[in-house]
Amino acid sequence: MEKEEAKANQDALERRARKKPSPKQNKLTLVPLYCKGCGLCVEVCPTGTLQLYDDPKNKFGTSVKIDAQEYCIGCKMCELQCPDFAIFVNYEEGKKEGGK
Ligand code: SF4
Ligand code: SF4
Repeated sequence: MEKEEAKANQDALERRARKKPSPKQNKLTLVPLYCKGCGLCVEVCPTGTLQLYDDPKNKFGTSVKIDAQEYCIGCKMCELQCPDFAIFVNYEEGKKEGGK
């Protein structure tokens, strides 16, 4: 893992340490095929829910994982920042509500 990626992980863990699990259960959906492990979602997540990991199956060598789903507050920052539409927040709920 690159130095910047390890730093993004560490910063995320520090943010998480200052939070409590979310009272609302939010569902995160990852599409591994689309994820290039750029780490943008890890950097913007205010609660440190996501982490990068070395992934030999990813052609860029890194992928993202949901490391502590219970901390997700459903803010959608990750979904909005992801350049590759590889992560969705409460996707099923949005469909039920008539969202796109
Ligand atoms: S889910 Fe999107 S923003 Fe996050 S690492 Fe993968 S490609 Fe980057
Ligand atoms: S919805 Fe917000 S809290 Fe949940 S993983 Fe995405 S950025 Fe983090």
